[in-house]
Parts: sequence; structure tokens; C-alpha cells
Amino acid sequence: MPKPKIGIYWCASCGGCEEAVVDLAEDILGVVEKVDIMFWPCAMDFKKADVEAMPDKSLVATLLNGAIRSSEQEEMAHMLRRKSKYMIAYGSCACTGGIPALANQFPREQILRYVYEESPTTVNEAKTRPQLKFAEAGREVTLPELRNVVRSLDQVVDVDYYIPGCPPTPKITKAAIGALLEGRMPPKGSVLSPDVALCEECSRRDSKPTNVAFTEFKRTHQKHLDPQLCFLAQGVICMGAATRQGCGAQCPSGNMPCTGCFGGTDRVKDQGAKALSSFCANIAAKEADEIDQTLKGIPDPVGTFYRYGLAKSLLRRKAGLPMSNGK
Ligand code: SF4
Ligand code: SF4
Repeated sequence: MPKPKIGIYWCASCGGCEEAVVDLAEDILGVVEKVDIMFWPCAMDFKKADVEAMPDKSLVATLLNGAIRSSEQEEMAHMLRRKSKYMIAYGSCACTGGIPALANQFPREQILRYVYEESPTTVNEAKTRPQLKFAEAGREVTLPELRNVVRSLDQVVDVDYYIPGCPPTPKITKAAIGALLEGRMPPKGSVLSPDVALCEECSRRDSKPTNVAFTEFKRTHQKHLDPQLCFLAQGVICMGAATRQGCGAQCPSGNMPCTGCFGGTDRVKDQGAKALSSFCANIAAKEADEIDQTLKGIPDPVGTFYRYGLAKSLLRRKAGLPMSNGK
């Protein structure tokens, strides 16, 4: 009997999600025993044309990681959607935009100008930019176009399931593949991680203050962090209460606060807004200038509260910048 076929693809991401698949270690042999990996350009030499030639829905699933930023990523997302019974957004960037979506704070032209002309390490007197088409000796080569807006996968194609995390842990990856192969999938649209706040699985939860009044916020490099005490009791921002569990509270276990990579629970519409409103409601100061002083401890509010979720937030990008269908 032929084995089910799966695809793994990488769009706008750092490669950590591909590493997470490799981190299955010897368990990947168990996966390969049960499925045929038909497309995984990062690790195996398959060609796009091979997948294009396959009948529609012939892959049982594609695990696609990364946000969608370029015309090529958009095209691949549509093609893999057609070829797959289940499209699975794998990792924070595919689920909610991830770190790449922080670029939604800036116009595309400003990003290109900085990268190719103004950054301290760039020497480009002619102000040359990559060209989308270049012809020489009778041949033409093309480059993908950078879209205006970074989008999550489900802002481009229909998504069946979400596996969160930056990157997802081997445990939830293995559980998801197992459920897929055994036909135990939950309702369409489910996030394949427990729908409970991270604090519940954090070893510091007993020291989490119930009535906190922040007089200052400290960043992790500005303080000697107690390895047992809840970060909130130390005046350090931790996104645990606004974040879905499933990672085993890895960061607090390593004496670092949660930055929110698993996204919010199902009840939370906007993870950043939930965290922001909770922190701001608990600032001790009452006068505007004292409040401003306290907030100086959070120099990058977007990077703090929307580090992984700006594309899927209610804001999506900086006010006033065009959405223009992502183009
Ligand atoms: S706020 Fe952070 S440190 Fe405190 S209990 Fe929640 S996850 Fe743990
Ligand atoms: S503790 Fe938070 S930031 Fe760290 S892996 Fe878990 S969800 Fe992600």
C-alpha cells in the first residue's frame, strides 16, 4: 500500500522551523517509515515542476513555515494548497506573521532604501537595487517581487491547522503528525497546542503576583534575574498570561521571560493588545509624566507585545501605510 505523501516548505522565516523538523532526531525515521516526503527543498533535491505535475490533493498535508512576503512565496503557497488535502501553518511566522511581520511597521521603499543604500555596512554609491528582470546573452533571469505587506499564511490561502511556536517543539510536531496519520484531526481551524495560558505550565506560577502595581519595567540585561520568582514580581515583562501553552514553559525554565511565540489562546483576539492592556492597567503611577517615566522601561512596545503576531493583529501594520492586497 502506498504511503501518504507530505510536503515541507519554507517561506519568509529564519530556517528554525526546518531545524525543528530535523530536531525530531531518530523520531524522523519513524515519520519517514510512515510517509513519503515528496517536497522539502531545504533538505532534499525535489523540483517545483515535480510537485506541479502531481494531481491536485495528492499530498495528504503540507507543513508550510514562514510568512508570505514575496510573489514567489505567494505562488508556492497557492500551488501547495492545491496539491494538499491539509494545509498546515507550521510555526509562528506562518501562523501569525512572526518576526518578519515586524517589517509591517515600515513602508517597503524605506526598507529597500535602508538595506541597499543607508545601512552602515552598505557601500553602494551607484544606489543599485535588485532588478526583477535582467537579460544578458539572450537569456532573461527574474527575481521574486517583494510585496508591500507581510502576511500570515491564512491571509493568502485557506489553512486547515496551525502548529504554533518559534519554532514548534518536537513534541507538538510529533503529536500533530501522529494525529494526521491516524486520522484523529480536530475540527478545521484548530491550533494543535493546548488552549490554556502558558502560566499554567510554568514552574514559577505560585509566585505570580495577584495584585501587582508596576513602578518600573526592567529588561532582562538590566537585572539579576531570580531563577524561581515570577518575572512579573521582578518588574520584567513576561507574556505568559497572554500566550498559549505547549512548549513546556521553556523560556522561564531557562530564566528568560516568555516573549509570546505560541500566540494567544482561542479566547484572545489580539495577543499584543491583551498583554498591553493588562500591563498598562497595573502601572502604579497616576500622573501622565510619571506614567511616561514608567513606560520608558518598554522602549520597543511593538517588538515587545507584537513580536510574533503583528500580521494577524487588529492593527496588522502601522496606521496610514497601504494594505493594497499585499502587493
Ligand atoms: S507570567 Fe511568566 S514567569 Fe510568571 S507564571 Fe506566567 S509564564 Fe511564569
Ligand atoms: S516560553 Fe513563550 S517564547 Fe518561550 S518557547 Fe514558550 S511560548 Fe515561546
